[in-house]
Amino acid sequence: MDHTQSSRMFTEAREVLVGGVNSPVRAFKGVGGDPVFVRSGSGAWITDVDGNRYVDYVLSWGPLILGHAYPAVVEAVCVAMRAGSSFGIPTEAETLLARKIIQLVPSIEKVRLVNSGTEAAMSAIRLARGFTGRDLVVKIEGCYHGHMDGLLVNAGSGLTTLGTPTSPGIPAGYAACTLTMPYNDLAAAEEIFAAHGENIACLVIEPLPGNMGVILPEPGYLEGLRALTSKYGAMLVFDEVMSGFRAALGGAQAHFGIQPDMTILGKVVGGGMPLAAYGASAEVMHHLSPEGPVYQAGTLSGNPLATAAGLATLEALEQPGVFERAAEALRQVSKGIAAAAREKGFPIYQAQVGSMACTFFHEGPVRNYAEATQSDTARYAKFFHAMLEGGVYLAPSQFEAAFASSAHGPEEIGHTIEAARKAIAAL
Ligand SMILES: *Cc1c(COP(=O)(O)O)cnc(C)c1O
Repeated sequence: MDHTQSSRMFTEAREVLVGGVNSPVRAFKGVGGDPVFVRSGSGAWITDVDGNRYVDYVLSWGPLILGHAYPAVVEAVCVAMRAGSSFGIPTEAETLLARKIIQLVPSIEKVRLVNSGTEAAMSAIRLARGFTGRDLVVKIEGCYHGHMDGLLVNAGSGLTTLGTPTSPGIPAGYAACTLTMPYNDLAAAEEIFAAHGENIACLVIEPLPGNMGVILPEPGYLEGLRALTSKYGAMLVFDEVMSGFRAALGGAQAHFGIQPDMTILGKVVGGGMPLAAYGASAEVMHHLSPEGPVYQAGTLSGNPLATAAGLATLEALEQPGVFERAAEALRQVSKGIAAAAREKGFPIYQAQVGSMACTFFHEGPVRNYAEATQSDTARYAKFFHAMLEGGVYLAPSQFEAAFASSAHGPEEIGHTIEAARKAIAAL
């Protein structure tokens, strides 16, 4: 494959953009080599600036569950744009999108629209603190909630000690308000709550983690966290920015049957535009300004283009068979990869719920971040580049989910499995 134009553009980009990108993982540090520059996308496919085509399993890191440039979404955004791009005055589309979210996500009675998953997570945690009058937040090692200061934190030296920042620029005092624990470890959670329970505002968790690869909750784990947070009067906050509308139409909370106290949404809910949301019971949301004292605002929040894209996406996703088509495509692709790996005789572990999945180059189950990091990342990097050359775009890191869209049909599935067979045979 020729990558001349991509290489030229990356060289130029690096002169004016940090690392040539606007979000770190795009720079391919996780797999080596240079990123491809995309020209356009249509359905399941993207075309790069050298004219190479790829079946896309990144889909803008999750949002495009209908595929690229889905006609009804394009049309809705164009109509909205012609009517004016932003007002900072209420529009009916905000109500319609909020109503749709409330209808689909079991635990949400009222919602606030914002611009990014990071902003939603940051605001949800402020609300949890304001609602409970407590400062401490518990998070899970390897779960990602955007780049807000207080959550870029590693475990301290012991389980019940306070966290330390993972990035310069974060005051130790922020990190000290965050406690971390491993996923799927209920005993660790019990220990933390026994030590700090009265001061914990919330436990924030990806119920179906997708930012350390995709990891499944063991039976009883989420139920245990639900009971524990209730016992101590702490809020259970589900970050469903990735799993929302992907694990199931109602998110991981619908799939696993657990009611969180607050939910963070992003990605699919914006249909490829910058839009995210957080929601909870009316009682909890009542504490947010302008009704309550917890402040949060945004010039572009509930933006007409973004609400149009989000609403068109959720409405299309509700049509019979659309959600299931994306999930089924991913199941078939995963099966193809597993068969090729088996033939070659090297171990993999796969996890999938709905239309998010991961193939770990790892022997045996992956239950938490520590186990995920034991995966063979060098082998994954080789696989990634072989797939890219074979016309399949996977996430440029072992620790990301693969997504499919309803536009991934038999042709794309066949193309992907064929590329995987060749890639794995050559490993
Ligand atoms: C992507 C993601 C975020 C951050 O969303 P941005 O829109 O990138 O700020 C937060 N939480 C989870 C679970 C995510 O997958």
